[in-house]
Amino acid sequence: MLDIKITKTTAPKEKPADSVLGFGKYFTDHMFVMDYDKQNGWHDARIIPFANISLHPASTVLHYGSEIFEGLKAYRIADGSVQLFRPIENMKRLNSSAERLCLPEIPVEDSLQALLAFVKCEEDWVPHSEGTSLYLRPFLFGNDEHLGVHSVNHATFIIIASPSGSYYAEGINPVKIMIESEDVRAVRGGTGYTKCGGNYAASNRAAEHAAQKGYSQVLWLDGVHRKYIEEVGAMNVMFKINGEIVTPMLSGSILPGITRKSCIEVLRSKGYTVHERLLSVDELKEAMANGTLEEAWGTGTAAVVSPIGKLMYEDQEYVVNGEKIGEVTQMLYDTLTGIQFGKIADPFGWIVKV
Ligand SMILES: *Cc1c(COP(=O)(O)O)cnc(C)c1O
Repeated sequence: MLDIKITKTTAPKEKPADSVLGFGKYFTDHMFVMDYDKQNGWHDARIIPFANISLHPASTVLHYGSEIFEGLKAYRIADGSVQLFRPIENMKRLNSSAERLCLPEIPVEDSLQALLAFVKCEEDWVPHSEGTSLYLRPFLFGNDEHLGVHSVNHATFIIIASPSGSYYAEGINPVKIMIESEDVRAVRGGTGYTKCGGNYAASNRAAEHAAQKGYSQVLWLDGVHRKYIEEVGAMNVMFKINGEIVTPMLSGSILPGITRKSCIEVLRSKGYTVHERLLSVDELKEAMANGTLEEAWGTGTAAVVSPIGKLMYEDQEYVVNGEKIGEVTQMLYDTLTGIQFGKIADPFGWIVKV
């Protein structure tokens, strides 16, 4: 149990209109901060006015990239109350990322307590319009004031929040994806299964190349054989081939998405067959060529599900499902957002009330 000290701002900001929110542009009035050192463990849990943070120029995170993060949303439901979707999964994944990067873990009951106390404090910032939410960004970084390369003795954990607009303000439009055959995002044994900032830094070049060619995201192939499908940008990926769902198995180089896991559970509960297995780009190419690829979509917290309308591979472009959102993709979107916004029952026990 954390002893969280709360210092309220004396200068609350004016809240932006729901119509201008976008993603990650505005921040709430407060932030949660907690420090770690080897002698005292995690200490000084506090909610303080949102402000710039000060770092020593030698701080570990600035030189050696010791940083991990999480992303989840707080949703306002019809009765005005606020709820979270599977936050325990995020806090467990934060620890799994921490373990890989030799950053200190936080007991899940403590990080969950911090998250709930912080959202409670910022409750008024959870927007009201259809499809909007308060995006929560917990992050943890190594903060030793020392250039030696060694495991971390000091660390900082912060949670910030950003009111965010509806991802699909203009309707769900299928995206164009480029299969990347040059750069790789991660390899087994590396940090692919963690949510670390470095994975994103390594992804930027391919994303830029794809954008120059008019594609919104990159579909990664595995780093060893350059053959097996991994994931799309910051989303996991699923395909409906011949009536069955296929998604890459969690091999160590893929991020274990909570939306991915939730989609699999929803699909199985509705009687679909879901295969978590290796899926080669050749198998996918063949399914696209012979018409057995019926739907393709990405899964992630930001978009929930994002239908894929076009796939580019080796200079050939394939159209998926006539560039329309498919039946299964739509069902997953409706089910997950229905549970998140409290419009349908939650038979899985995924919701945590604030
Ligand atoms: C966060 C993330 C995802 C999606 O995870 P969710 O828990 O569903 O939001 C997928 N891939 C990458 C690389 C990510 O960073």
